[in-house]
Amino acid sequence: MTTAPVTDFAPLNLNGTDWNAIEPLLNDLAERPVETNEDYDKWLLDRSELEAAVSESVANTYIDMTCDTASDAKQSAWTAYLENVAPKFKPVIFVLDKRLKELGEKFGKTSGRHEVLFRDTAADVDLFRDENVPIETELAKLDQEYDKICGKMTVEFDGEERTMPMMGKYSESADRKVREDAWRAVAKRRMEDQEAISTIYDQMIAKRHQTGINAGFDNYVEYIYKARHRFDYGTSHAYAFHDAIEQAVMPFVARLDATRKKELGLEKLRPWDLNVDPKSRDSLKPFKGGVDLIAKSRKVFERLSPELGEMFRSMGDGSNTDGTANGAMLDLDSRKGKAPGGYLYFRDRTRRPFIFMNAADQHRDVETMVHEAGHAFHSMYANNESFVWYRSSPIEFAEVASMTMELLTMPYWDEFYPSEEDANRARRKQLEGSIGLLPWIATIDAFQHWVYLNPNHTREERANAWLGLDDRFGTQGHHCDWSGLEEERKFVWQRQSHLFGNPFYYIEYG
Ligand SMILES: [Zn+2]
Repeated sequence: MTTAPVTDFAPLNLNGTDWNAIEPLLNDLAERPVETNEDYDKWLLDRSELEAAVSESVANTYIDMTCDTASDAKQSAWTAYLENVAPKFKPVIFVLDKRLKELGEKFGKTSGRHEVLFRDTAADVDLFRDENVPIETELAKLDQEYDKICGKMTVEFDGEERTMPMMGKYSESADRKVREDAWRAVAKRRMEDQEAISTIYDQMIAKRHQTGINAGFDNYVEYIYKARHRFDYGTSHAYAFHDAIEQAVMPFVARLDATRKKELGLEKLRPWDLNVDPKSRDSLKPFKGGVDLIAKSRKVFERLSPELGEMFRSMGDGSNTDGTANGAMLDLDSRKGKAPGGYLYFRDRTRRPFIFMNAADQHRDVETMVHEAGHAFHSMYANNESFVWYRSSPIEFAEVASMTMELLTMPYWDEFYPSEEDANRARRKQLEGSIGLLPWIATIDAFQHWVYLNPNHTREERANAWLGLDDRFGTQGHHCDWSGLEEERKFVWQRQSHLFGNPFYYIEYG
């Protein structure tokens, strides 16, 4: 696959987070005469290549920051970009967007191949406000703060200091006492930062609301749908989706819960009874460490498709633990000082993916691995696209390749589970999890709608809104007994990192 730049406008070694290096190129694009169709085509490709170069430098700075939340140097590199480059870059991009709109109309490049680019750019021109630029910087810094707080969270358990992802395996323990102790240890640790995270969220809500108002909307919700270029559906569709989940999925999950209670011999399910195997078999052990995870995943993809196997092989062996250093494309194992969650970040200039994970030898890491690999393949298949803007899909399709890969790989999971019984158990868990995720998606999405439609709420009102949704959709669909844990229950949303760094994205998983 080609990774050669489509023009030589942006030097190959350009540091896209160095304002002095990119400013003259941006000025060229803002001022260069564009008189003919050919001039316009060249202008677009040059702009695309420059944006790819900047995007790649930003990606590497971000990845390194999330891989090492305890490193002052990596944290300040990211802060420096947010404070010194992004605020200058965005207003110039606005100038270029206005130019693209004018030139697109002048040269009739508003439909066909140009339709999506023109539509998205027109939306960006409508939404841009100078006064939102510093607010966006503050929001990104608050998200960095959230990542840092989460990256520091560990507990002493079972004789060792363990990260939150490492604690996940105890939720599958057949010993109920171990599950409960682990659950309480995690909840207690999270509650220590509850106040700090609530404060971050308060500030984010106020700032996001202001960006919506500044852009001429009544609230942030209308603003963010347009800012995300979500043109295919609106809030009424989102509400209908929540209702459909309530009607169609909740009865199914209730039946699963009834079986679970019976098989576990319990009167009531408690929060620590939701992840254990209902037949009380010990936890699944799909792999040990990132290298093993990659070796087994590679075999899965080779069997699914030799082409995918080849693409997966190009991403490395999973041993890297140092972010993007030495050209790495993977940083997989959980460790103290890593931001929460998992993501795929595509580097637009060299057209290489990067997979970030917090793997801790559990089945859910297998799901994350094949999910993020699905994103990686999707991006790699778009490698030959000359416009950087078309190397990722519009938002409505963003989670399709990844969510699908969780299901397409299923027949080959014997690579992780040589025993037929374990493989089938994992498949069943996956299918139940795919359905069980829907109520959680509804919970998170409905919560965000409430939060931003009622931006002046108190923390108590927010807790009540959350509890109301938990009554409606349960915790991932499960209705369990939280007695004695009322405080902890009010703050379960704090675990969902998308609420902080990626608002109104979560519905895409459904
Ligand atoms: Zn995804």
